[in-house]
Amino acid sequence: MSKFWSPRVRELTPYTPGEQPRERLIKLNTNENPYPPAPGVGAVLRNYSTDHLRLYPDPESGALRQALAREFGVEVEQVFVGNGSDEVLALAFQAFFCQQRPLEMPETTYSFYPVYCRLYGIERRALPLTANHEVDLAAFATDSGGTIFANPNAPTGHGHGRKAIAELLKRVTDSVVLVDEAYVDFGGESAIPLVVSHPNLVVTGTFSKSRSLAGLRLGYAVGSRELIEGLTRVKDSFNSYPVDSLASALAIAALEDNEHFEACREKVITTRERTRTRMEKLGFHVLPSQANFVLVTHPEHDAAQLFAGLRERGILVRHFNTEALRDFLRITIGTDDEMESLIETLETLCG
Ligand SMILES: *Cc1c(COP(=O)(O)O)cnc(C)c1O
Repeated sequence: MSKFWSPRVRELTPYTPGEQPRERLIKLNTNENPYPPAPGVGAVLRNYSTDHLRLYPDPESGALRQALAREFGVEVEQVFVGNGSDEVLALAFQAFFCQQRPLEMPETTYSFYPVYCRLYGIERRALPLTANHEVDLAAFATDSGGTIFANPNAPTGHGHGRKAIAELLKRVTDSVVLVDEAYVDFGGESAIPLVVSHPNLVVTGTFSKSRSLAGLRLGYAVGSRELIEGLTRVKDSFNSYPVDSLASALAIAALEDNEHFEACREKVITTRERTRTRMEKLGFHVLPSQANFVLVTHPEHDAAQLFAGLRERGILVRHFNTEALRDFLRITIGTDDEMESLIETLETLCG
């Protein structure tokens, strides 16, 4: 605490990211992809001329936005890019959710959303999940200051289909609905096709998970022109060049390799389902997941103790010490070998 900090900064509770260990651990705690990015990314990187770095990048990231627009079948004016989807989210909170009425979100969802609320002084209304641990779409009010949730949700893994999102958008028409699709490529259904007919819908995504580029820091938003223009206004009042030229070139290379993308996500999905079966045999309750992680709980073993036991044996998973999640572990889907080590270690711990 310092007297030099602005009053609001003294009140902040910053987001705590999962640990990035220095030792060699089996790392199943931050939902990174266990497979390398597309080979074309390496090729572009090796041939990249440092002379490009002398100049500022395109402030509009035109080439990357074009590539994403093609990928999603929308106009380039409907695409926004930023330095990780966390940054895109931060700009969206400022662009859309600083309203008189509170922002609505599930009680259990991406834990960064409440952090942005504090940062911008946004009042938050948290809605409980259903008994099945699903986001309760019917509970969102029509007269809130905005709606945000991850779909598939984090850290539960359940995702609603496009039809259900369309039903929500029939009711909520006067404020922005932000659907965070960080995990959609692992079995979810994207709401992006709905942006053409819903001017208040914005969908965010990231290259960090399904494209294996968490270190590159690239995220995007797709929405109506007016929403993208709103985001651009905030960006251009904050940082005109959030996406560097190298990141842009590498992301375009990643988008060009659909075969690699499909192969990696298929592998993750197959390993996830195999992991589920194995863990259920050990007595775990495994929530159904459309993401690259599973949320699990064991009726006889304390989650915090399992976390510590795994950590001691070189396996890092995520334990959230909140009321709703204290009995659960969130486990990222790694390679088959990594998951085999996890299961063997859990066999020992659950004995
Ligand atoms: C990982 C994650 C993000 C952030 O992704 P970056 O692009 O790496 O910043 C956003 N939302 C959810 C729900 C996530 O899990």
